[in-house]
Amino acid sequence: MNRPVPNPGVLDIAPYTPGKSPVPEPGRKVFKLSANETPFGPSPKAIAAYKRAAEHLEDYPEGTSRVLRQAIGRAFGLDPDRIICGAGSDEILNLLAHTYLCGGCEAISTAHGFLVYPIATMANCARNVVAAESNFTADVDSILRAVTPRTKIVWLANPNNPTGTYLPFDEVKRLRAGLPSQVLLVLDAAYSDYVSRNDYEMGIELVATTDNTVMTHTFSKIHGLAALRIGWMFGSAHIVDAVNRVRGPFNVSTPAMLAAVAALEDTAHQEMSRTHTEKWRNWLSEEIRKLGLEVTPSVANFVLIHFPAEKGRTSDEADAFLAKRGLVLRALKNYQLPHALRMTIGTEEANRLVVEGLRDFMAGSKP
Ligand SMILES: *Cc1c(COP(=O)(O)O)cnc(C)c1O
Repeated sequence: MNRPVPNPGVLDIAPYTPGKSPVPEPGRKVFKLSANETPFGPSPKAIAAYKRAAEHLEDYPEGTSRVLRQAIGRAFGLDPDRIICGAGSDEILNLLAHTYLCGGCEAISTAHGFLVYPIATMANCARNVVAAESNFTADVDSILRAVTPRTKIVWLANPNNPTGTYLPFDEVKRLRAGLPSQVLLVLDAAYSDYVSRNDYEMGIELVATTDNTVMTHTFSKIHGLAALRIGWMFGSAHIVDAVNRVRGPFNVSTPAMLAAVAALEDTAHQEMSRTHTEKWRNWLSEEIRKLGLEVTPSVANFVLIHFPAEKGRTSDEADAFLAKRGLVLRALKNYQLPHALRMTIGTEEANRLVVEGLRDFMAGSKP
């Protein structure tokens, strides 16, 4: 039979499974802790800007996201001409893959890396090469060993989702120095706002000092604008020039752009979220470990909880147990983590309910 055939690799892509979005049962409070969304929502100023933008929906957006690039430039001390905005950082990652990958190319991601990377790679007919991690953390030597003459991109989320681990700046620099200069290193800093380690750098310095590194960032996490789909990248002029040729001319909507500008300016809102996250990340890690479960040390707004394989204690059973109490976590089978659950740090109420739920689960109580 003759029919249209997708490009090589496309049907090898495992469809992306997003975090469950529960429909609350009447009378039961549901806490969605499965998609790393902020429990605080966006800045009220961002919501106001979004509503103002509703007055002119008949106009096309300004095609280069100029006001947002300028605002990002002010916030991070960057040249706006070296920034590109996109419909979420997902679009940016896909634009990078479109621009630099093709059949016969390879791109490297890590064993428990963000799943958008292999999707973007395989959607562009390139081969996804997986580098082993150690202790649920990207391993520079294993990435370097995976490099071949066909390698075009290395994808690295720093910190990584779903593990919550990070590479110190020294290690990222060692990675860059060990990669051939024609390999594009993509540093995805989606969770950088939550990191409070002084050996961490989000990638700006490396982008500024090399011409083969880009950093991507998002408004979906600490800024709470996931629904608007808005992200950005910072890169060398030649990369920005190439990606801009591939980018759709109106890829970012005006309401998203204006809400993001207002969100960036509300530093108090960001600080509040950062402080809350750090406090409850420490508390959750400690309390969950006290129950006899392993928690991978996290620097992001979520924690990775490991369960034993023994019946009655498995991650599947824990997931079902917590779900009955309206606590929705993320199972990670498609991340090669069959015995772990990822929990987004929530409100104090949600965090306490999860620990209580896990305590009851480990004690063998009824949900
Ligand atoms: C959430 C997340 C993003 C953000 O994606 P958007 O498309 O900007 O919403 C990017 N990278 C990682 C690793 C993430 O977890």
